[in-house]
Amino acid sequence: MKLQDSPKTHITKALASERIGLRGKVISMVNRSLDEFPELLNRRITIGLTRAYEGSAELGSSVIRLNPKNLSFFTVGHELTHLLQGDGIPFGEKACDIYTIARSSLFLDTPPGYLRIGRNAERSWKDYSNSVQELCRRAIEYRQSHRRYIMWLEANLVSLGKHRASKLPT
Ligand SMILES: [Zn+2]
Repeated sequence: MKLQDSPKTHITKALASERIGLRGKVISMVNRSLDEFPELLNRRITIGLTRAYEGSAELGSSVIRLNPKNLSFFTVGHELTHLLQGDGIPFGEKACDIYTIARSSLFLDTPPGYLRIGRNAERSWKDYSNSVQELCRRAIEYRQSHRRYIMWLEANLVSLGKHRASKLPT
């Protein structure tokens, strides 16, 4: 476990003064998440702390801030995805959720914060997370030829599981 600066990451003073257990957890989760982001290989990510939010990112920079309390891989992935927005990934919080979920099953540990996933997936995320991921991946394909891909996705998510959890639209 890397507890200090590494070639991939740099930590702020606030995080450096955090308890070693929490600090280690945050840094190891970011390093594991970065394995899923080959686009960020050449960027050294600065990891800071926030208490006000689950996480935040400075757009146009390489700085993310994370709340160690109940930190999820989804939140780490979401903040790292923000760093890529405008560079192949569209802007917006919902877009950020969609591209994070689509990227890797690592980021399915908690449901997204902005994307409306429908009542069934909200109630039983574990049972639906793989279907939500499949739909997010389809939505990204759909976006290549349609503008309203988020509307398309949320409409499909709302009806997810109304018939059968495994039945996805074609
Ligand atoms: Zn965000």
